[in-house]
Amino acid sequence: MSNPRTVLVTGATLGIGKGIASVFAKNGYNVVLTARHPEKGEQAVHDLKALGNPNVMFVAGDVTSLDSMKAVVAAAVEAFGGIDVLCANAGMFPSAKIDAMTEAEWDAIFDVNVKGMLFSIQAALEALKQSAAGRIVITSSITGPVTGYPGWAHYGGTKAAQLGFMRTASVELAPHGITVNAVLPGNIYTEGLQNLGEDYLNTMKASIPMKRLGDVEDIGNAALFFAQETSGYVTGQSLIIDGGQILPETLEAVDA
Ligand code: NAP
Repeated sequence: MSNPRTVLVTGATLGIGKGIASVFAKNGYNVVLTARHPEKGEQAVHDLKALGNPNVMFVAGDVTSLDSMKAVVAAAVEAFGGIDVLCANAGMFPSAKIDAMTEAEWDAIFDVNVKGMLFSIQAALEALKQSAAGRIVITSSITGPVTGYPGWAHYGGTKAAQLGFMRTASVELAPHGITVNAVLPGNIYTEGLQNLGEDYLNTMKASIPMKRLGDVEDIGNAALFFAQETSGYVTGQSLIIDGGQILPETLEAVDA
């Protein structure tokens, strides 16, 4: 087994992906970040190296292209000798109500969130098979698998689809010692979430028993649990990290 282990994180230059990458960097992993825009990538590498781990690199890639993801994986393997953990995290969450949703909007979100997850896994699979303890951690969401929110029917569909994929993937890949699990974030304070506006953020905060939005490293710590060599008997599972948001029966119950 390569020591230290190497993690590839997709959608890693902002938000949850960057938080996942920072937790792995702090825990001594070699960290490969990928996303489309190099300038954000270089900034993320700079920020992560400042945590004290020099073994952090960025490779530009688009999860909607299998060739692009194969090139990212090749660069990671060349730099660090292999990949032990894939965090398939890249995703988008535009809003569209059902009565006005276009075919293009439907296709775009499934391309990134579902097909992008598949291509990331397909590209990394050979390297993960070579690892003595290969791990795949998918970033799903509470939205879709557990909850609903107007405007996110297509988004919720993608996040539930990821879990359907995960269950068969965990069975298919078990003979290779590869586990496949998912983190289901609630409302995590990221650049993407900030774009939804102050009203959205305040309403969400009020509905969360912990009375705060999640931090990106809350998700990173859960991903690290699934990624560890010692978690090899945990597969096909999903872990909600939401400060208790899905639990209250009514909004009043949060403050009762
Ligand atoms: P974000 O702040 O918008 O960051 C998205 C990241 O993905 C960026 O690094 C972006 O960089 C990259 N990306 C987007 N499209 C890509 C593509 N086609 N190929 C490669 N990289 C791409 O998003 P976030 O809030 O951190 O969300 C990350 C994941 O968590 C998503 O899967 C989302 O569904 C899930 N999630 C988020 C929340 C939340 O509260 N924030 C809650 C539940 C689930 P480039 O634009 O440079 O490519």
